[in-house]
Amino acid sequence: MMSGFSRSRAAGLLAGAALLTTAACGSGAAETPTSGSAQTSASSAKPEVVAAFYPLQWLTEQVGGSDVQLTTLTAPGVEPHDLELGVKQVSDIQNAALTVYIKGVQPAVDDAVAADKSFDAATAVTTLAAVEHAEEEGHAGEEEHGPEEEISYDPHIWLDPSRMATVATKLGERLAAADAAHAQAYKDRAAQTAATLGTLDQEFTKGLTTCKAKTLVTAHEAFGYLADRYKLKQVGITLDPETEPSPARLSEVAKIAKAEGVTTIFTEALVSPKVAEVLASQIGAKTAVLDPLESKPSGDYLSAMRDNLKTLQTALGCTG
Ligand SMILES: [Zn+2]
Repeated sequence: MMSGFSRSRAAGLLAGAALLTTAACGSGAAETPTSGSAQTSASSAKPEVVAAFYPLQWLTEQVGGSDVQLTTLTAPGVEPHDLELGVKQVSDIQNAALTVYIKGVQPAVDDAVAADKSFDAATAVTTLAAVEHAEEEGHAGEEEHGPEEEISYDPHIWLDPSRMATVATKLGERLAAADAAHAQAYKDRAAQTAATLGTLDQEFTKGLTTCKAKTLVTAHEAFGYLADRYKLKQVGITLDPETEPSPARLSEVAKIAKAEGVTTIFTEALVSPKVAEVLASQIGAKTAVLDPLESKPSGDYLSAMRDNLKTLQTALGCTG
């Protein structure tokens, strides 16, 4: 149900038209005596909240519930790092009571948000240092973020459920401050969401305790927080999913993978599996899909993370 809602919001964004405009027309019409309705004025009173991309959309749906009017900037199936904003999206951000984003994921969003009406989820958690590959010249750090926008931490915080729980709590406080009339409802839903994420965190901890292997070789280096939380080691082939790795990087990863007995190279839905397949065949490994959740999965955040856990348990030979 929520996903149908999100898709229609995204379609509205793509068309550049006008779900919000429609709502505005509706409330304008309510001033005429013939078409006024309580429902119209109630929905136009909801604070508009913008979520930058899928994991933040999911979190805002959980915590904001039906008290907010939610728009997502990144349409399903779009790799979020490269997002460019249209005029409509920039005005959505300007009009929103709150924009929920993570600084360093989408430079266009970083530039568009106003400090007092935005929540940078990375500020709610302890971040890890950005990964650097000496071999990768002209990495995203320069081209995508721009020299002055370069951030020093890894922005993929949503792949650790315990950090997501912390973000949920903080988001509840920010929404409560933005919409005082529903403050308790935001805080209650935030507490419930944090508890659900805590349960997911326990499932990961238990499921990844007893494993034959501890090294994850991933196509796109997005799983640093998951590795940090569950005591695994991530070796990413590339930092930027759009960049082809250098032969030097590939042979370095192959060497590590062989030395650490890696049997599976992880790839992801939005990135061509070619590089991972070449590497896997070089070292006699298989490939499997691990979802970095940068775009909406077929289920939701929780089900996709549970699928990731199963994939990891199989690939790493875990018995938990
Ligand atoms: Zn990423």
